[in-house]
Amino acid sequence: MTFQTHTGNRGLVLEEKLIFEQGEAGRSGVDLPDPEPVKSRMGGLERDSDIGLPGLSEPQVVRHFTRLSQKNFGIDSGFFPLGSCTMKHNPRLNEKIARLPGIADLHPMQPESTVQGALELIDQCAHWLLVLTGMPAVAMSPASGAQGELCGMMAIRAALDARGENRRRVLVPESAHGTNPATAAACGFTVDSIPATADGRVDLAAFEAKLGDDVAGIMLTNPNTCGLFERDVRKIADLVHAAGGYFYCDGANFNAIVGRVRPADLGIDAMHINLHKTFSTPHGGGGPGSGPVVFSDALAPFAPIPYVVKTENGFHLVETADEKDGKKPFGRLKGFHGQMGMFVRALSYMKSHGADGLRQASGDAVLNANYLLARLKTKLSVAYPGYCMHEALFDDDFLKGTGVSTLDLAKAIIDEGFHPMTMYFPLVVHGALLIEPTETETKESIDQFCDAVLSLVAKAEAGDSEFFKNAPYLTPRRRLDETAAARKPVLRWTPANA
Ligand SMILES: *Cc1c(COP(=O)(O)O)cnc(C)c1O
Repeated sequence: MTFQTHTGNRGLVLEEKLIFEQGEAGRSGVDLPDPEPVKSRMGGLERDSDIGLPGLSEPQVVRHFTRLSQKNFGIDSGFFPLGSCTMKHNPRLNEKIARLPGIADLHPMQPESTVQGALELIDQCAHWLLVLTGMPAVAMSPASGAQGELCGMMAIRAALDARGENRRRVLVPESAHGTNPATAAACGFTVDSIPATADGRVDLAAFEAKLGDDVAGIMLTNPNTCGLFERDVRKIADLVHAAGGYFYCDGANFNAIVGRVRPADLGIDAMHINLHKTFSTPHGGGGPGSGPVVFSDALAPFAPIPYVVKTENGFHLVETADEKDGKKPFGRLKGFHGQMGMFVRALSYMKSHGADGLRQASGDAVLNANYLLARLKTKLSVAYPGYCMHEALFDDDFLKGTGVSTLDLAKAIIDEGFHPMTMYFPLVVHGALLIEPTETETKESIDQFCDAVLSLVAKAEAGDSEFFKNAPYLTPRRRLDETAAARKPVLRWTPANA
């Protein structure tokens, strides 16, 4: 863009002030009668100033939120290849089912006898997860992958306490998602990181050397955050078990192996499943997630409440730890029953795909990623040789000498109409670009993305680094000071005359 419009608008993309800046005292979208005077019972504590809500008409409010929604890029708008996040299409069937009044209008405090169908639905969703993972137990309530990790590590902690052992060291590969070490630390463990091999997997010898009788377990992501299957996963499980520890698997990347690999066969003790990744429930922008955790027999007794059981009188939600059935739940993680709306969507996804469809989805996810890898590696430098699983990982070697960074390239990708890939993660790869197309993209959309990226790389190679330093050009806001935004966030609006 070479010129500035009078309004600041860009075509039909309109500038939008904060709702508080638009408000005018006394303006309102509703017309209500004045309230009857009531005698105050506040003893002089009643507020005597305005509460400061913005005054707007209904069309102002409608436009405000519609404009904001149009500034929000989502999977329904375009290609969103954010590595490790599995931004796949959310089938509309799931949404339709979730909106059925018998599901959408339920209240979590309804008596059990009136929500038998909902409890059965949770039980069915749990059943599918158990079949797909081969594991004997599942805790449905965790509200995200990160909370699932917390759930798994608290179960490990409870199991160690029950054994009377004070093991406090957790082994975590260098390439792990930041939530893994954060979870271990939050549970009172110390984190000991395991280096990676030159081909992006856990260094088995280094791992083995770190084992000892103070090791609580390992937190391993498989397929890992380099988009690679951990070739020694079985050996790792056996070694950690022989050392008396547990195997926590970060299952966020389950989409790559669903219907093909059963986590139980890998010797896993606990693994969270991101329903919002693998099973297509909507996410992004902090939206509702759901991170059920499957458990081995060793950890199952410690799974948190609540959980659904089937009795001769129907389904029952076990809500207290003292209902005696041989279990020793470590406690409760979440209010009510978990993310019910996500269970509905995930079950709809699983049932509409069927076993064959789920298996095909993981195959297509891997195929799409490898197609993208094959096209982009003609210009971009791959982080590790060979085929990938569900995502392709590049380092920034190909940008060496161009004066263009991974960040600059990502900003230019925004101008081309794509959400950028995951950048600078995993940390083990310099200037990483992690690209996950998912199975729901067509060949055409992947080609369009690859064409755009390859053209940008040609531009970088041609020496046009100035162009990249100033990108993006076409967005409502351009380069933001992301460091200041993170370090000194302005979270509160103050009126100009305050
Ligand atoms: C997404 C992800 C997580 C965290 O899941 P949330 O639902 O975002 O909390 C953990 N590990 C990996 C590898 C992930 O990709």
